[in-house]
Amino acid sequence: MIKIDENGFYGDFGGAYIPEMLYPNIEELKENYEQIMASESFKTEFDSLLKDYVGRPTPLFHAQRLSEKYGVKIYLKREDLCHTGAHKINNTVGQIILAKRLNKKRIIAETGAGQHGVATATVCALMGMECTVYMGAVDMERQKPNVERMRILGATVVPANSGSKTLKDATNEAMRQWINNPVDTHYIIGSVVGPHPYPEMVARFQSVISAEIKAQLLEKEGRDSPDIVIACVGGGSNAAGAFYHYYNDEKVRLVAVEAAGLGVTSGKSAATTQLGKPGILHGSKTLLMQTEDGQVVEPHSISAGLDYPGIGPVHAHLFASGRGEFLAVEDEDAMIAGIELSRLEGIIPAIESAHALSALNQLKYKASDIIVINLSGRGDKDLETYIKWGNY
Ligand SMILES: *Cc1c(COP(=O)(O)O)cnc(C)c1O
Repeated sequence: MIKIDENGFYGDFGGAYIPEMLYPNIEELKENYEQIMASESFKTEFDSLLKDYVGRPTPLFHAQRLSEKYGVKIYLKREDLCHTGAHKINNTVGQIILAKRLNKKRIIAETGAGQHGVATATVCALMGMECTVYMGAVDMERQKPNVERMRILGATVVPANSGSKTLKDATNEAMRQWINNPVDTHYIIGSVVGPHPYPEMVARFQSVISAEIKAQLLEKEGRDSPDIVIACVGGGSNAAGAFYHYYNDEKVRLVAVEAAGLGVTSGKSAATTQLGKPGILHGSKTLLMQTEDGQVVEPHSISAGLDYPGIGPVHAHLFASGRGEFLAVEDEDAMIAGIELSRLEGIIPAIESAHALSALNQLKYKASDIIVINLSGRGDKDLETYIKWGNY
């Protein structure tokens, strides 16, 4: 793991830049989360739900035909096989158990494309907790099936009608609601973003990914570390989980893949480390796509999960310190990589995950290397995008 200081900073990035009125909520969480997560009863419940509800451990699959094509040994960490179809459920399961221990009765969440909203609505149904998900009005229109999934699961989906009516506005609305209901409500943030302690807490819930990779590689290869780990980065939670137990193992190359959209210099991109400057977004100091006078620039990516103008502070630090290698993959190349995996291995990946796969075309590696690619989610949710693209 990477050490954070007592104020929640990874190097220059992180912290808790919050309005005064949010202070009690954040303070309550900060004072309790480590102790609760360290308790035996928490660990027992979390591990048992990960196993019997989420379906962990997820397999580490040696992708033989993909390996042959790229001339290197490639394993896929199959987060696409998690319940609800992506890694996001690891975090929502952890946070709902935490919320119960804090005696919270209601859960709120923000969602962009709806994947985090669905994962939150799922665990709320499981625990019999009231669930309200804030979603930009424009996103509700674009992601109708996920809106209905949340409703089937019993959640209330509330449109955010301010600003661009997308993820940023949904987050603002969730924050406002949290300020108004501090005693009975827990806010489940969906990535390694937000004010301290969220980035660290979410990374720890997702760290099960690299804990499993270590054990599985040891069994298959006789060593617990690969040469390279590759993961896509929106906010950065699946990458943080896949990197977590390798941060201090300098032999392991950590490759983070951002969405270049229509091209890094096209003005329609989400390649935050290439385009961003230090700024404050959703309660933490991080790299942020912004105009000269600090207005957030609307990002673009073909994959909704990578369409975010910032990046978790841990990744801003990995970038600034040089510990992580950052690549950017364009929409078209991600789509091609998604079809390639479908044809070579019989796995249709989420378009987010397809960005990580496409990095194989840019990366320099040795034939003797072992590469683990974190396959963050399955492609079912992206069928319409594949169909519209049509080139298969
Ligand atoms: C949400 C999502 C992502 C991006 O989120 P991170 O926090 O960066 O992991 C990536 N892949 C899938 C399948 C997602 O649903």
